Amino acid sequence: MIVMNLSIKIFIALILSVVVGLIAGEPGLPFINWWIAPIGTIFINLIKMMIVPVVFFSLVVGMTSLGDTKKLGRIGLKTILLYLCTTAVAIVIGFGIAGLVHPGVGLQMASEAAVKVKEAPSIMQVFVAMVPANPIEAMAKAQILPVIIFSLFVGVGILKVGGERAELLVRFFDAGAEVSYKIIGLVMSFAPYGVFALLLPVVAKNGPKVLLPLMSVIACVAVGCAIHAIAVYSTLAKVWGGHTPLEFFKGMSEQMLIAFTTCSSAASLPVNMKNCQEKLGVSREVSSFVLPLGATINMDGTALYMGVCTLFIANVFGIDLTAGQMMMIVLTGTLASIGTAGVPGAGLIMLAMVLQSVGLPIEGMALVAGIDRVLDMFRTCLNITGDGAVTIVMDQEEKKHAAA
Ligand code: ASP
Repeated sequence: MIVMNLSIKIFIALILSVVVGLIAGEPGLPFINWWIAPIGTIFINLIKMMIVPVVFFSLVVGMTSLGDTKKLGRIGLKTILLYLCTTAVAIVIGFGIAGLVHPGVGLQMASEAAVKVKEAPSIMQVFVAMVPANPIEAMAKAQILPVIIFSLFVGVGILKVGGERAELLVRFFDAGAEVSYKIIGLVMSFAPYGVFALLLPVVAKNGPKVLLPLMSVIACVAVGCAIHAIAVYSTLAKVWGGHTPLEFFKGMSEQMLIAFTTCSSAASLPVNMKNCQEKLGVSREVSSFVLPLGATINMDGTALYMGVCTLFIANVFGIDLTAGQMMMIVLTGTLASIGTAGVPGAGLIMLAMVLQSVGLPIEGMALVAGIDRVLDMFRTCLNITGDGAVTIVMDQEEKKHAAA
């Protein structure tokens, strides 16, 4: 309920910033820049403040929630691989559709980052840079990919230690993740003011042409989600899942609707479990492992949204993304989806992290934040449908294995 209220407040802030910005226009800019824009900067700093802690804690928790390293065996590895592949495909679809529609072109926001466009690193450089020689330095510099890699290692290390000592650490990281989410909740309660302060100068400078790009972002995410669901999940269902696409989507429809309205994979999990078992015939054993894991680490919709939004923000700031940067976005976006909590608005924070990893201006988030709730509906719906698709595939795999 609180989240719903907050989204409405953010939406109102968006509308207000448009109205006030249009009235103020260029003559109001000096006042706005001096008195209001800094509030937006404070909001951005608050979000930046939480990126490293949330990634570190939640990724370690995500890894340790697998239980023990043996569980990473037959089902685990295949499931994770399938989850990661579908997620990477989702970002590419997001890129593709945003590449066709060009949301944000024509709208201009100025940022320091817009000036210093990075040169594309080679693929090997990307891999080398992923491994931190000094994790503390990586955290201090908010180098996201190295922090992700370090977190994954810490997670595996804890699983390997096992026993009482590991239990202690699991509880520590779990509490750390919880604290991070609480702080993010606090920061987000400031979001309506932050969004207003960030958007006002943009609207005052650009006038009414600021609205069209936002509609096109919503269209890109909605159409992208539909394409991903139809192309990828229908194929998975038909080729490996033992169901026709129609059967699959029928079996998923209830939980898709719940995801669409609650914007929470976690909240949709119980219905997803029930319907995958009862309507799609998935065994209890497979569904109770694959679905909760998916609700935690598999976020195809969030990934697709990151593809669309990064390109949109790059367009708004007049930055041409290099192939290297795009690869980096696919990589960080896929990994970021592991650390995205299945709760409303979590993807927005992760978007900040992906933007940071390729040096795109985080200020662009303000534009997305105003319409994030709508985008969240589509992406959460896709997130849980992806979990269902992988679950029926894994169920078939297990049945084949048992029969052999
Ligand atoms: N709301 C999404 C989910 O629960 C996460 C996100 O914000 O992208 O799956």
